[in-house]
Amino acid sequence: MSKEQIIEQAEEHILHTYNRFPVVFDHGEGVYLYDTQGKQYLDFAAGIAVSAFGYGNQEYGDALKAQIDRLIHTSNLYYNEPIVRAAARALAASKMDRVFFTNSGTEAIEGAIKAAKKYAYTRDGHAGHEIVAMNHSFHGRSIGALSVTGNKHYQEPFAPLMPGVKFADFNDLESVKAMINENTCAILFETVQGEGGIYPASQAFMEGVRALCDAHDILLILDEIQCGMGRSGEMFAWQHYGVRPDIMTSAKALGCGVPVGAFFMTERVAEKSLAPGDHGTTYGGNPFVGAAVDKVLEMMERDRVTDHVKEITPYLEQKLDELAAKYDFISGRRGMGLLQGLVCEKPVGAVAAKALERGLVVITAGSDVIRLAPPLIIERQHVDEMVEKLDDVLHNM
Ligand SMILES: *Cc1c(COP(=O)(O)O)cnc(C)c1O
Repeated sequence: MSKEQIIEQAEEHILHTYNRFPVVFDHGEGVYLYDTQGKQYLDFAAGIAVSAFGYGNQEYGDALKAQIDRLIHTSNLYYNEPIVRAAARALAASKMDRVFFTNSGTEAIEGAIKAAKKYAYTRDGHAGHEIVAMNHSFHGRSIGALSVTGNKHYQEPFAPLMPGVKFADFNDLESVKAMINENTCAILFETVQGEGGIYPASQAFMEGVRALCDAHDILLILDEIQCGMGRSGEMFAWQHYGVRPDIMTSAKALGCGVPVGAFFMTERVAEKSLAPGDHGTTYGGNPFVGAAVDKVLEMMERDRVTDHVKEITPYLEQKLDELAAKYDFISGRRGMGLLQGLVCEKPVGAVAAKALERGLVVITAGSDVIRLAPPLIIERQHVDEMVEKLDDVLHNM
């Protein structure tokens, strides 16, 4: 099929829920993507913070191929070794005690919500508990995940959503305090807000919410789907703060492209939470995704990916700060590790489109942020190349 045919057929057959950029990617190598015409793109989006090792990684690919030949799926009625290995690695990396594997980030959020509700139900002997989530958050598109997503525009057509959700302001402890009562079972937020505009939690907010949760036996749920898996410079972004969640969600880079998510909890929560019959999934944690997660975590540990992120981050930040200083319509930079945003007063969708023409993949966040979420394996030369291309694009805005 020609590029034009692919785009035409996609628009005709696939439900129109995305306004896609007119690019058809064909293959990738390292931190570069190639379209069907062979044009090269430097990738600073990683398929939305997914492809941590970039493209064409031999070891990862070989592990997937070997598992495909051996066994892909059996259901959760039986045990399988790859997911058991993956679980052990994931728990060691997160210092959590129990994990449930899902097929996406959204499903991880669903599971986290159910776990928190069940915990409070067991504790109090009644249902009807509430969750405090944040304005400008993003947790997914299913009814449950959408109910805790603080974006009126996404929610409005689908009302009524799940009841019992209140929205506080991120990084504003007083606004969280004002929302809790004796029925609150959980406070939920992203350690670094992603889609909402790349806002890292403040140290005071993390500590304040943790203390609030401890004082009232409320569960702290941290959504690490985007900011986790080494991207921040620690395996999970909350590890920068010395504040441990009771429940944590992961996905995106967890499988580096194989669809998998997970929610984790402490033993204290697990004891009073989901029991046989309370939750399930047909695919979740099958041998194939188990092999992917096992290999991803093995490579991240062995290659000390978080050390590399810590090392390259100051350079990326410095280069982005220089770029921000150069243009008066770029009002600043926010972020953590290799999840960075440039706040831009020009239409950011147009910046992303122009960048693609220039051979650079960047994405947006919120209405005014250029989001950079490259593969975690980038080197200084890639930062330089990105800055050169983005500078070119901004210069012509
Ligand atoms: C992407 C994302 C989700 C949803 O994950 P899916 O895999 O798209 O279902 C939830 N929370 C955050 C923070 C995300 O970035």
